[in-house]
Amino acid sequence: MKTEILSGEQAIKKGAEIVRAGGVVAFPTETVYGLAANAYNPDAVRAVFAAKGRPMDNPLIVHLADKNLISTVTSGFDKKYNALVNAFMPGPLTLVVPRCKDIPDEVTAGLDTVGVRVPSDPMCRAFLAACGVPVAAPSANLSTRISPTSASHVYEDMNGRIPLIIDGGESNVGIESTVLDITGDAPVILRPGAVTAEMIAGVLGGEVKSHSGKVLAAAPAPGMKYKHYAPSCECVVAESISSAVQCYNEEKKKGCDPIILCRSRNAPLLGDCRFMALGEDDAQVCRNIYSALHKAEKIADFIICEDLGASGVAASVMNRVNKAAGGKRV
Ligand code: AMP
Ligand code: MG
Repeated sequence: MKTEILSGEQAIKKGAEIVRAGGVVAFPTETVYGLAANAYNPDAVRAVFAAKGRPMDNPLIVHLADKNLISTVTSGFDKKYNALVNAFMPGPLTLVVPRCKDIPDEVTAGLDTVGVRVPSDPMCRAFLAACGVPVAAPSANLSTRISPTSASHVYEDMNGRIPLIIDGGESNVGIESTVLDITGDAPVILRPGAVTAEMIAGVLGGEVKSHSGKVLAAAPAPGMKYKHYAPSCECVVAESISSAVQCYNEEKKKGCDPIILCRSRNAPLLGDCRFMALGEDDAQVCRNIYSALHKAEKIADFIICEDLGASGVAASVMNRVNKAAGGKRV
């Protein structure tokens, strides 16, 4: 199959036609690029899993053009959570809610809940509106590979597997959405993202539990057992800039060709080490992290990423980097 990359109106029109006819296309969102299928069409949804090489027990997120449509995919949720819809939708927040019967098992991996998101990216919203159906989508990478934040990232993994990539430029947020389960008494973050626990608690009051908290210890979130975001070369997290430099020198001695990923302000501390600066504030670091990993795995054979912090959006970025590193620290 030939994979076309198109942008603008033409891309939206053609992409929506393919989705309505039961096909799969890649599309831009503000988080990362997705692989779209008509959520009402089980065969189309199966084709997404096939294109990605993803296990069928890892559910997809249903994407909607407008928050007014949320009621069409859920059988309802506690009114107290409407405040989250008002505060963070459209945006990088996925709500896990009780599913409505029209959404097939293929989308939800047989769960009685469904993940719902209303993206904010204007091109994405135009595409979703043109599709005219809820769009089930995972990230547009091969399973276990780094998520794509540009059309060319998607092309690397999906060339020959899908007919069309809708090019909307670089994803503005840069990591996947926050996934928040609101089916219980207290909200539980299943996957951290740009909408942080602090922001959610600020809107709702009360507690926001993390997946490592009590609630999830009893029932791990689907999807969490799979390895994600693995670059093709080894990757480690460095506790400090000095441990990054030490690790760099050791890898050099072994004949490796390492690279350090760090905040821009720390670059002057790296001496002669080769590095990529991720930017200064958390939003920049978040926007750049996947691009940096994509590039680093091509130009180096060992990636050392500075520990970028444990609070706010930096913690969400580190969630991805720690997965890329398989938990390895130096
Ligand atoms: P991806 O599309 O690759 O960003 O992955 C979507 C992720 O959303 C999955 O790996 C799940 O962790 C999460 N997710 C989607 N739907 C549900 C659901 N109904 N319950 C729990 N987690 C979900
Ligand atoms: Mg993914």
